[in-house]
Amino acid sequence: MAETRLVFLGPPGSGKGTQAERLSSRLGVPAISTGKMLRDAVKAESELGRRVGEIMGSGDLVDDETMAAVVQERLAQDDARAGFILDGYPRTLAQAAALDAILADMDEQLDAVVLIEVPEAELVRRALARQREDDTEEVIRTRLEVYRDKTEPLVRHYADRGRLHRVDGHQSMDEVAEAIAEAIEGGLNETEMAVEV
Ligand code: AMP
Repeated sequence: MAETRLVFLGPPGSGKGTQAERLSSRLGVPAISTGKMLRDAVKAESELGRRVGEIMGSGDLVDDETMAAVVQERLAQDDARAGFILDGYPRTLAQAAALDAILADMDEQLDAVVLIEVPEAELVRRALARQREDDTEEVIRTRLEVYRDKTEPLVRHYADRGRLHRVDGHQSMDEVAEAIAEAIEGGLNETEMAVEV
């Protein structure tokens, strides 16, 4: 059976948002983008939105406690019962631990983590090409640095636990989507592959 409780990991510009949406239609489980949820909160000028607006604009991370509350509430909704694709969460080791606790509370656990890998030079090229008016070069650089310092340690964390699928993100969107589907539906993770050879 396909794995349906998934985390997508990857640097800004890796295309993970697009790929999460595509896999969401394919598997029939929601793609949950914490970045989008926060941007919506900012737009709606909710209490949460007012709290996180400034830090988001700087390219830095919203605090782990706030994020845990946001994700816990979202995963408790009915449409996430049969599975979900988390896009943009967790982003720190503390968030990975919080996610485990949230899922354990619901008698669930993660099936797999998909890492979309793209060379840094290509990320910078893509970031500049799609630069929005609120993305100054400095904000782009901050986002990449934050990814390297705080989020990249998750790669090792999930690889050590045998949950990681690495996908080459430096190909066409269709090819990346196919590689992800194969990894998920094949169900083999790095540990199992290592055992097979
Ligand atoms: P994204 O669209 O995933 O790049 O998220 C946009 C912004 O929202 C990030 O730069 C962070 O400021 C904030 N954000 C989204 N997800 C998280 C998270 N898991 N932890 C902390 N901040 C987050």
